[in-house]
Amino acid sequence: MNVTALKKNNHTTRFYRNLSMMIALVIVSIYLGLYIRSNQLLLDAVKQQAVSYFDLIVQVRKWNAGYGGAYVEKKNGIESNRYLLEVGGDPDIVARDGRVFTMRNPAMMTKEISKIFSERSGIQFHITSEKLLNKENAPDPFELRALKKFQAGVPEVWEIEDGVSGTRFRYMAPLLVEQSCQKCHVKFGYKIGDIRGGISVSIPFAPIKHAMDINRTAIIGLSILTLAILLGSSYQMFSQLLTQLKKAQNALQEASITDELTGLRNRRYLMSRYQEEFERARRHGGLLGFFMMDLDHFKGVNDSCGHPFGDLVLKSVASTITKVVREYDIAGRYGGEEFAVIVAETSREDMMVLAERMRATLAEMYISDANTCIRITVSIGVAVLNDGDTSETLLKRADAALYQAKREGRNRTVLL
Ligand code: GH3
Ligand code: MG
Ligand code: MG
Repeated sequence: MNVTALKKNNHTTRFYRNLSMMIALVIVSIYLGLYIRSNQLLLDAVKQQAVSYFDLIVQVRKWNAGYGGAYVEKKNGIESNRYLLEVGGDPDIVARDGRVFTMRNPAMMTKEISKIFSERSGIQFHITSEKLLNKENAPDPFELRALKKFQAGVPEVWEIEDGVSGTRFRYMAPLLVEQSCQKCHVKFGYKIGDIRGGISVSIPFAPIKHAMDINRTAIIGLSILTLAILLGSSYQMFSQLLTQLKKAQNALQEASITDELTGLRNRRYLMSRYQEEFERARRHGGLLGFFMMDLDHFKGVNDSCGHPFGDLVLKSVASTITKVVREYDIAGRYGGEEFAVIVAETSREDMMVLAERMRATLAEMYISDANTCIRITVSIGVAVLNDGDTSETLLKRADAALYQAKREGRNRTVLL
């Protein structure tokens, strides 16, 4: 079965189209679900990374604040934190050996750690607040939005942001006031536990975007492959099924028009073809003849030789009829031991010749099995289409001719 054959049958085409659409829908849904889920997992992973950085920086700040700040040696390029002067403390101290140490409070430390991370992997931390000691720590638009949400009770905020320095995953959570903060931030009137700002973590999104792109390409590729395999194999199976169905249908159709015992066409087929031929002959003014043949004294054959032998006789008669008729004649089993032939486009004379040849050939034929060998005869009634005929009158005349042949002694042909 090829595509054209499939197309010919509207029902099967529609069924296959619906089946394909269903397969496509299921596959696309599965892969779309997979795509969304895997992207979600990637986003979850990057968010988890941001949370870990946030926690790390908060704990390190806590460590620093717990000591009231840590001192680093003031070597070349290390500046004192001038904001500490503003809150009333000198950040510098001189050791006994004369070396100068300067304080690194949590804010300064966060800034410096952020710088290290930023240079290494592009990840940035930013401590910010709406009430600032250091104006450099002013919130950017994302941070400002997040700070407002914290005030409204939102525990954390994240989003993917397209900026001049590329796409970044932004995460921010609030920073709560602890006892150790109060030393510097007391002027803002915070209470312990108040939100005094937040720390934002920015992670470059390009690697995640790249992973998502690979993911998408892989999933599109896989879904196309799966679809091609499934649709291809279902088409293959469907075609095979159709071929089998067609074969079964043909076999059934063949069986419905074939006589089981003799293999000749059955009466139903014979009659439907007779109607067609009759109408055609009427339309085109063509010739049409109908033979009716009946085995003579066939009951006697059954009685003396047995019913199975009678069947063999019927089969032998059928095979001889098939040999004698011409390609375009239509022969069939009309009833028990009666056969008929529709003869088109043949003159009365030629029809008689054909019928006589049939009768003579059958009469000369020996039919035998291991125990029996007989010859049979047939009587034939022939009718040829006349002007005033209907399909019934022509048949009736053939029947009457057969009856006449029987009456006149059998083994003969009568034309009416
Ligand atoms: P006639 O010359 O008047 O036609 O006599 P006949 O004996 O042939 O006619 P009759 O109508 O009396 O008998 C027909 C017989 O055909 C009776 C029936 O058992 C037999 N027959 C019909 N169909 C079959 C069949 O399929 N197999 C066999 N073995 N016999 C069948
Ligand atoms: Mg009969
Ligand atoms: Mg008979």
